[in-house]
Amino acid sequence: MTTAPLPLSDAEFAFRRGSLLTVLGAVLVVSLITLSVQAHWNFSFTDQLLLSLLAVKNAALLTWLWRSPGAFRLVGLIELTIQAFTVLLRLYLTLHSAPGFHGLGGYAVWMIFVYLVAFIVLPARQALLVSGAVFLGLLGIVTAYALDPATDPAMRVGLGNPLLQTMLMHATFIALLGWQQHLHGQFVRALFSARRAATLAHLDDLTGLPNRRQLGRWLDGNLREAGALSVILLDLDHFKRVNDTFGHDVGDEVLRQVAGVLRGSVRGGERGGDRVGRWGGEEFLILVRGDLDTAQMITGRVRAQLGAARHPQVGAVTVSCGVAQALPGEAAHDLLRRADEALYAAKRAGRDTVEIAA
Ligand code: GH3
Ligand code: MG
Ligand code: MG
Repeated sequence: MTTAPLPLSDAEFAFRRGSLLTVLGAVLVVSLITLSVQAHWNFSFTDQLLLSLLAVKNAALLTWLWRSPGAFRLVGLIELTIQAFTVLLRLYLTLHSAPGFHGLGGYAVWMIFVYLVAFIVLPARQALLVSGAVFLGLLGIVTAYALDPATDPAMRVGLGNPLLQTMLMHATFIALLGWQQHLHGQFVRALFSARRAATLAHLDDLTGLPNRRQLGRWLDGNLREAGALSVILLDLDHFKRVNDTFGHDVGDEVLRQVAGVLRGSVRGGERGGDRVGRWGGEEFLILVRGDLDTAQMITGRVRAQLGAARHPQVGAVTVSCGVAQALPGEAAHDLLRRADEALYAAKRAGRDTVEIAA
């Protein structure tokens, strides 16, 4: 099994880009609000400068990501790097250059955003690694501060509990994000297998062709649309003899081979929108978006290709076909009944032939 991360699906990419836009926008709003009230709070010149730079940086990244979605990863990595650097530097500066300062400062509540950005931008495992590295960096700064003999004892006591709570909160936040990613991964896998199961429910086990249920759906859908619609019902001739003579397994092989020919001649045709499936047993149905002439043209091509595809033991198989074009407003089961009657007529006429429904 490969461990390479799956490429992000379109929906996941849109979600992550939207999340990063939201975070950038939120940080921009926060910095603008803080700047607008700073006059009352006597912020230092350095603080004002840093806040202004922060606002400009966020406005620039926001605009960039808004205008070029393809830059998601680059914008994300730039934002992540700036945040990680800022968080580490500011904790260091707060602890070492704020004599008499009580508490960690207003910015402390925003520190956890670095982990959020990591989990938005990176795959879960890398996000955990980067978050862990930032956390260890912060822990190192805190430990060095606590153990430094030069640290003011009163400050050490005053900041002890806030620092401890901050680090515990960071660890909790990382764990929550990791847990959320784990649940998300499980959800995506469950969705994937549900979709796969839904797809398989419309396919025939033996041939891999769409099954009767899917054909019924297509038929109902196509009958509601404008334009001519015809059906070709094909039944293998004397197929019971194939089973009786060569065994059921060889019979299955022949059915798969016929399915391959039908798939190729309907999809490989120059016309789009035609469909083929296994109607049941040794019967197949082709839906033709066209009139009787088109359906007969396709029938001729299919029969020629079946004649050319010889099974090593059985040889070539022949089919009898009933062709019918939908009448205006005709229900699916009436159309199929007419095609079936035409098929029956083809059998009576000696097989390996085509009959057009009345
Ligand atoms: P006709 O030309 O009148 O259609 O003759 P026929 O023998 O093809 O028709 P009949 O309806 O008597 O028999 C159809 C046979 O198809 C009988 C059945 O065993 C076989 N058959 C149906 N489904 C399968 C299948 O999935 N695998 C195999 N090997 N045989 C199948
Ligand atoms: Mg039959
Ligand atoms: Mg048959």
